[in-house]
Amino acid sequence: MFDELSDLYQEVILDHSRSPRNFHKMEGANHTAKGHNPLCGDEITLYLLMDENDVIQDVSFEGAGCAISKASASLLTSALKGKSKQEVKELFDKVHAMVTNGETDSEEMGKLAVFAGVHKFPARVKCAILPWHAVIAAMEGEKQEVTTE
Ligand code: ZN
Repeated sequence: MFDELSDLYQEVILDHSRSPRNFHKMEGANHTAKGHNPLCGDEITLYLLMDENDVIQDVSFEGAGCAISKASASLLTSALKGKSKQEVKELFDKVHAMVTNGETDSEEMGKLAVFAGVHKFPARVKCAILPWHAVIAAMEGEKQEVTTE
């Protein structure tokens, strides 16, 4: 399986799955969402601290899952600090397109572009997109639960 996915497991993904950034529960978060991907068994909880202008001040996550879901959550938390709700939604659309069809503007996507290879492995698309579903759900309410099914 590792050979088959070698394209995917680039250095960035391995690094973020082994030592995920912002990997902790956030006391004082005002938005949270639980995400579950039953196909793979990934479970993550996403924590957001949003200000009165709907700008993300802080973001963290905890949970257990495969390397792809963990790395995706880690890179997401690194990418979203300081972004507005609208900016996050636009980024979600781009990430979703990237992991489903492989198209990306790597300059704009920065490190998130490492997930472009995921589109070749349909079973992994849900792993990569799970934290994004969770962040969108969290922004919409105070306590949310989402599943990729
Ligand atoms: Zn997974």
